[in-house]
Amino acid sequence: MKFSDDEILEAVRESISGVLQIPLDEVEPDSVLTDDLGAVSVDFVEIMFRLESRFNVKFHSGNPLDQIARSFEPGSLSRDGVLTNLGVVVVRQRMPEVDAGKVLAGMPVGTVQAIYTASSWARAVKELLQAMPDVCPSCGSESLEPVRPSVLICAACRQEVECPTQAELFAAWAIEAFSSWTRARPVEVGTPG
Ligand SMILES: [Zn+2]
Repeated sequence: MKFSDDEILEAVRESISGVLQIPLDEVEPDSVLTDDLGAVSVDFVEIMFRLESRFNVKFHSGNPLDQIARSFEPGSLSRDGVLTNLGVVVVRQRMPEVDAGKVLAGMPVGTVQAIYTASSWARAVKELLQAMPDVCPSCGSESLEPVRPSVLICAACRQEVECPTQAELFAAWAIEAFSSWTRARPVEVGTPG
């Protein structure tokens, strides 16, 4: 159940290499899946599926930004389908492993996925693993075993334990990272340029 950062990154690189059918050593942590490795959207689905099976996690199926945007004023992160200035700040902070120069105001929200790197996937897996409970909320036992993606079962009392969803983690992150910007007060942003 416990994986080191290296083990996570290695498994991510293996999944990408397997799905794209390219040698493992061509998949660097900073490789951009689309531009550097030629991945298309169906490959993302397959990589996601492999990682879910490998780590017993479940990814959010929609665009992460849509989920994060729920914590902000409507229209503050994206408008007319493109990133606003605040949207750029949020995406850069959310994906510190991605070259900030690739995240620009005016870029279509749907293309954010296209700049994911191998490290982006490793970060996402790590967040989900860290959010898994260490002890059974019913009996306190530490004997929690994976039963299906994002669900653990307690070996002591047989209670099933749901792990936090990725959508919940997005929302928690947004509030933590942008507490002064989220719903607490209206957000002023410049026009996308
Ligand atoms: Zn228990």
